[in-house]
Amino acid sequence: MVQPYKHEPFTDFKNEENREAYLQGLKTVESYLGQDYDLLIAGERVSTEDKIVSINPSNKEEVIGRVSKANQELAEKAMQGAVEAFKTWRKVKPETRADVLFKAAAIIRRRKHEFSALLTKEAGKPWNEADADTAEAIDFLEYYARQILSIKDGVPVNSRPNEYNRYDYIPLGVGIIISPWNFPLAIMAGTTVAAIVAGNTVLLKPASTTPVVAAKFVEVMEEAGLPAGVLNFVPGSGAEVGDYLVDHKDTRFISFTGSRDVGLRINERASKLNEGQIWLKRVIAEMGGKDTIVVDKEADLELAAQSIVASAFGFSGQKCSACSRAVIVEDVYDQVLNRAVELTNELTAGSPEDQTHFMGPVIDQAAFDKIMSYVEIGKQEGKLMTGGEGDSSKGFFIKPTIFADLAADARLMQEEIFGPVVGFTKAKDFDHAIEIANNTEYGLTGAVITKNREHIQKAREDFHVGNLYFNRGCTGAIVGYQPFGGFNMSGTDSKAGGPDYIQLHMQAKTTSEMY
Ligand code: GLU
Repeated sequence: MVQPYKHEPFTDFKNEENREAYLQGLKTVESYLGQDYDLLIAGERVSTEDKIVSINPSNKEEVIGRVSKANQELAEKAMQGAVEAFKTWRKVKPETRADVLFKAAAIIRRRKHEFSALLTKEAGKPWNEADADTAEAIDFLEYYARQILSIKDGVPVNSRPNEYNRYDYIPLGVGIIISPWNFPLAIMAGTTVAAIVAGNTVLLKPASTTPVVAAKFVEVMEEAGLPAGVLNFVPGSGAEVGDYLVDHKDTRFISFTGSRDVGLRINERASKLNEGQIWLKRVIAEMGGKDTIVVDKEADLELAAQSIVASAFGFSGQKCSACSRAVIVEDVYDQVLNRAVELTNELTAGSPEDQTHFMGPVIDQAAFDKIMSYVEIGKQEGKLMTGGEGDSSKGFFIKPTIFADLAADARLMQEEIFGPVVGFTKAKDFDHAIEIANNTEYGLTGAVITKNREHIQKAREDFHVGNLYFNRGCTGAIVGYQPFGGFNMSGTDSKAGGPDYIQLHMQAKTTSEMY
């Protein structure tokens, strides 16, 4: 009997034993730094000359691993492997498919701190952020496995006398999984296994900055008993391999998490009919965010400042869910702003391998340059309260940065920065605050700090985001508790970790038999 789902608890690093376990994880990762990783195509390991070199963003000299890079020819082979494997995988019992996920969850749980330490090294995640990423990966495996079990016998529909009607979800076909670097284990694994457990076969193209953790995950899936060809591993460039696979006639669906611009590009390309293609491709897209915390005048102001700081600067603001706008009702604006600045000045930053650091680096030079260019824009548009400095000599470090007194339509308040920068703006009253909160093209997360019950109700109705939180920060959705996904330019509102997520990778078939 499968136990009811419960999310994986976070590790308490105040506990000496847990700290030791994490340090041991770091040692394990250090023992395999710099190794080569192959592609996986129809169960065969393929090594290429051309490699993606993954480096540690807090120490550019340190090579995490060198991962083979697919080209179009290899992508085509992988596609053929996936097409072939689909013929059998789609008929494998849902229970058997779920068992692969349950075992993979157990393997990752056993190697939890090793995976987290790898996230620290490859993505620059501080301990608690890395631990949450690993826990979320385990959650996705546990949750989606149960989801397929819950619909394996179909969903009830009515039947009249002498009639037997059924409504069953069947898989779609071959999916392309294009995953991000910011949750390089959780989202990569979650999007991959949701597709697989539903009976599809996939080609996984992980982010080029974090391919090693993806390679390790692919090994786990093999160890858990996934048959050859179901999961093909094809890291490579978006322009070469990504476009080729998105355009491919045999691609049935694309599951993408990443930036707005890449999402739009994929959506557009996927809409074109290619020679030999006999379906409309489905696109599941989780894109950007420009997420707001609204603070009412009747509110716990300490909670407000803490929520803003934690949501803005956790993992250096590199979450689609990160708070990048604080909209404060004018009566309490100065108080909240000043307290947020104080709290920010207490944050420690540096190598995430050091447990005492709240913040690590940003992911790479391109991100560093982009964020620093927004800091310059911020200096024109508002008042720099703290931070604003960066140093990319050893790793890509940027100080947590607060800008105040921004206009609601300032670029800093409208464009996704994806770094440790938050802008503050003043609202006349609560209604005005919600109006400002809604004035972006995104709609992913938001939070409202208030003690006013009517205002909570108003926000429930009018604050147009996929994940709305009250009296807490706006990051850290938990699989199966707060299904995650947004409106408008934030994507297709495909709720990862939600009760209807795997169905997005399936199609419903009605059958009706007369007796
Ligand atoms: N699910 C994460 C959260 O709630 C964010 C995911 C993302 O950044 O893509 O914080």
